[in-house]
Amino acid sequence: MNMEHTIVKVEDYEQYVGAESIERILNKAKFLQDLHVVNFNSTYYGGGVAEMLSSLTLLMNGLGIKTEWRVIQGTPDFFNITKKMHNALQGGEINLSEMKMHIYEEVIYENAFRNHLDHNLVILHDPQPLPMINHYKKRSPWIWRCHIDLSSPHAETWNYLLPFIEKYDAAVLSCKEYAQKMNTPQFFFKPAITPFNIKNRELSETEVDERLAHYDIPTDLPLVVQISRFDPWKDPQGVVDAFKIAQKEVDCTLVLLGNFATDDPEGAEIYESLLDSREERVLVLPYGDDTALVNSLQRRAAVVLQKSIREGFGLTVSEAMWKGTPVIGGNVGGIRYQIEDGENGFLVSSVEEAAQRIVQLVKDEKLRRRLGKNARETVRQKFLMTRYLEQYLDLFSSFETVFRINNHPQF
Ligand code: UDP
Repeated sequence: MNMEHTIVKVEDYEQYVGAESIERILNKAKFLQDLHVVNFNSTYYGGGVAEMLSSLTLLMNGLGIKTEWRVIQGTPDFFNITKKMHNALQGGEINLSEMKMHIYEEVIYENAFRNHLDHNLVILHDPQPLPMINHYKKRSPWIWRCHIDLSSPHAETWNYLLPFIEKYDAAVLSCKEYAQKMNTPQFFFKPAITPFNIKNRELSETEVDERLAHYDIPTDLPLVVQISRFDPWKDPQGVVDAFKIAQKEVDCTLVLLGNFATDDPEGAEIYESLLDSREERVLVLPYGDDTALVNSLQRRAAVVLQKSIREGFGLTVSEAMWKGTPVIGGNVGGIRYQIEDGENGFLVSSVEEAAQRIVQLVKDEKLRRRLGKNARETVRQKFLMTRYLEQYLDLFSSFETVFRINNHPQF
């Protein structure tokens, strides 16, 4: 087949962010040509980290920064432990036994043993690959990019991880509230979306109809939708409860769509726990890997919910807002930076509040249109990938002296 391949470039964003921003980014990138960067995370799909790495690494390569993306390997035991650590960093409980620490550090040692690094910059995402830094002769800056809501981490887990973190040259967190006492300099980058992938690109009404029909999703009543990994922090049960209260006042259909990340062993259990809630108008669907379906639901929904009780950022919020759909979000973490209550969506702190906002939005089309329009504009201004990319370029440039010492050709 004679296919033409296209990769999204920063210039494609000009229509949304203006020529000046693009020019500025291109200029900054000039100084970073041929820099060799590697990213490590723990899943190639499922969840916001993989979502962003996918578009960000392509954009960087398009700018002449040789940017790799590698995924660490791990046993089911390892991912069970790292998910528990993830939960503990978000404030959950964990029994951090010697055995758990041993398995965690052994698997990371094996990953380090088989990954050979001579890069100018190493970026590790989230706690899973964190200890890798112990196993290299450090010749270049190492960055820890943490995407988790760190507002109240489990103290013992934090204290265990801190010595690894303090070996890094920078820690990048998603929001200022996640700052911790540590020797490593901290930076704050809010995540962002790309308008060009299948999940976010424009779709015709016919395409949306076709996708929804494919999964027998009824469109005769307004759709109330939450799309998330099946994870307790996303509060899917709270969404069902809120919907059932709202249903007493308005006719609508709930769609809870989810997928499973390879580094998240909790998914199947949470999914199964929701199956008893299913009814004619309560759909619990595991087809979240179909990104055109995600796009179609976010577009067609009268209301999108992201009723999280902890949320590092919540890319799903920006994704729906970009499509002009009003979002009811949990009043936590990164969601608070995306939703301005009553202006471009609603923030809620309880099931009852969520129910009340569902009723209000389903009843009032004019309100939906106003919030949705503001929502799209918020994302255009603040949460597109070019802003995120530029923050990385600035951070890379701040290491200029290190590159100079290492005789990087640009310096
Ligand atoms: N996602 C998806 N299908 C699903 C659930 C989630 O494609 O069934 C995507 C979602 O569109 C978003 C990412 O996974 O791009 C989730 O990122 P977010 O920051 O909202 O949450 P995380 O899973 O990283 O906690």
